[in-house]
Amino acid sequence: MREHFHAIVVGAGPSGNAAAYTLAKAGLKVLQIERGEYPGSKNVQGAILYADALERIIPTFREDAPLERHVVEQRIWMMDQDGHAGAHYRSSSFNEEKPNRYTIIRAQFDKWFSRQVQAAGALVICETTVTALLRGENGRVEGVVTDRENGVVTADIVILAEGVNGLLGTRAGLRTRPKAEHVALAVKEMHFLPQETIEARFNLKEDEGVVIEATGTITEGMVGTAFIYTNKESLSVGIGCLVSDFGETKTKPYELLDRFKRHSSVHPLIEGAEVKEYAAHLIPEGGYKAIPQLYGDGWLIVGDAGSFVNAAHREGSNLAMTTGRLAAETVIHNRRMGLPNVAENLKRYKDELDRSFVMQDLKKYRNLPETLHTNKQFFTTYPHLISSAAQKLLRVDGDSKRQKEKDITAAFLRTRRFGGLITDVFKMARAWR
Ligand SMILES: Cc1cc2nc3c(=O)[nH]c(=O)nc-3n(C[C@H](O)[C@H](O)[C@H](O)COP(=O)(O)OP(=O)(O)OC[C@H]3O[C@@H](n4cnc5c(N)ncnc54)[C@H](O)[C@@H]3O)c2cc1C
Repeated sequence: MREHFHAIVVGAGPSGNAAAYTLAKAGLKVLQIERGEYPGSKNVQGAILYADALERIIPTFREDAPLERHVVEQRIWMMDQDGHAGAHYRSSSFNEEKPNRYTIIRAQFDKWFSRQVQAAGALVICETTVTALLRGENGRVEGVVTDRENGVVTADIVILAEGVNGLLGTRAGLRTRPKAEHVALAVKEMHFLPQETIEARFNLKEDEGVVIEATGTITEGMVGTAFIYTNKESLSVGIGCLVSDFGETKTKPYELLDRFKRHSSVHPLIEGAEVKEYAAHLIPEGGYKAIPQLYGDGWLIVGDAGSFVNAAHREGSNLAMTTGRLAAETVIHNRRMGLPNVAENLKRYKDELDRSFVMQDLKKYRNLPETLHTNKQFFTTYPHLISSAAQKLLRVDGDSKRQKEKDITAAFLRTRRFGGLITDVFKMARAWR
């Protein structure tokens, strides 16, 4: 007889681990299936870990999770070809007992999270791909089919935590493949430097970290951002743009990354580093409007598979963990109440999501992807104007400050005209509200 589980979780990224851990901790019999050699082997992330989402699942995670540095400073750069205008926020209050954000290395972090899942009692099987969903006569999902011999397993519920490119949900008709304008392709390298060099270059004490998010002409008019994150003995350096934009411009992602690394603002930070890893991954950036149906008879969708990424704030793993936890809590609730896992009872997951920061944040930015996609001036004209304005104002050359202000205003009006400027402000304000 086939072994039957209370729940099967497909995927061992943050969303799948959060779901499997919560379910196993509550005493349910859980099977988690991961196609990678080990959890994290297939995963790519910047990566910033937002503590709050994990703390709600494993409050003691700081005791043994592989954390690199806690973030004390955030830099935001608006870049043009020669420089950048930026904003910094740094505070010693981020040096708190329980820091709010950390940099992590996903391969290590996912392995650690998976060990917690196993310690909670779940059965985790790696190097196994779920190839199809098993359906009952009424179409209800009753388990999974894997690529193992006799690899059919049944369960009361299947949680799809298969990530952005998950083919399972698409093949089963539960969601459509994300559109090219709804996914970014990000490329990332790990640059190794001695710990003291990183701390000197970024003005850090031991364990403190800086993260830099950069936008502007470095993406050559494409919708996208670049980043530099400080780990203990390495820097994560990456850039990502919409797949549709890469297609239109025929730009190669690694060439874009090379140009970012050669930029005069970036090069001094990474100079002399040994590059050890190169990875590419998709990010679902379609936001609220790209979220598919999230529940049905016998199934739930969590994490990137459900398009849960807040691209404006570069948050993904925390949404993944929160959706995984809320999905698991719904299943636990139904089990306690003796309710079958059919759509009507699984709707509770969507209701909980609607009440959470996850949906509220995504809803707030629902028009942002479209606004950025159709208004490329935010990635071309404005970074250049802002950088020129900063340079003009800072260069002491005998012109009066009033004259400089006049010249700056004239440059903005010449380039975008008054109507264009007002429309752009209005569009951005609407998309951001
Ligand atoms: C370059 C980059 C930088 C990022 N930076 C950040 C950041 O700094 N902070 C942040 O919070 N988020 C960041 N994100 C987003 C974050 O990585 C994702 O939101 C998060 O990993 C989603 O978790 P997930 O569990 O839903 O999916 P994933 O992490 O993609 O995990 C899905 C898992 O499912 C497995 N799988 C897929 N199909 C099958 C199958 N059929 N059978 C078995 N297993 C399967 C995969 O192997 C994988 O392990 C970044 C993403 C990228 C690409």
